[in-house]
Amino acid sequence: MCDPTRHGKKKRFLSSLCKNFFSISIIKLQLKNRAQPSKEEFNTAFLMIKHKYLPLKTKDNSLQTLNRTIWTNNKAFKSGQREDDQCRFCGETETMEHMYYLCQHYSNLQWELFASAVSVVVKKVNPGASNIYITFRNIIFNTPIKNLYHYVKDKEINIMMAMLVHEIRRKIHAFRTSSE
Ligand SMILES: [Zn+2]
Repeated sequence: MCDPTRHGKKKRFLSSLCKNFFSISIIKLQLKNRAQPSKEEFNTAFLMIKHKYLPLKTKDNSLQTLNRTIWTNNKAFKSGQREDDQCRFCGETETMEHMYYLCQHYSNLQWELFASAVSVVVKKVNPGASNIYITFRNIIFNTPIKNLYHYVKDKEINIMMAMLVHEIRRKIHAFRTSSE
């Protein structure tokens, strides 16, 4: 379909279109692939949900997140229960990822704050430590926070950090739901 063989403006236009289309497809494909947990990640996250310290309401939210059954405006729109798929805070499409960490109006700020607070504590103990950063895999699939583990080897502390991620995620969801 995209075969720019003619000369001049049309060729440049088609060439640019093909290039952009290809790039966008690649980005979408990468995002799609990255948004899937590996079997090991899924099993580890599933075991973490059963942890005795995690409150029941948090377990429920975590299970729905891991199974991607959490309700969003995008899902409501696709199933005909809403007239739009927009996030009420910023107007972008509200997918699970948007709700949990991409929304610049609420969720993203929560993780920045969390990462900053953890960084301050880690630097108190280890002044040479770099900033702690939270990735979408930490947030959605509860994978260990890698550069935190680099500085803090204590297993219990790392488990408590993972628990905090569960709690923050549930609170983000509760805030989003309560403001409907
Ligand atoms: Zn938003």
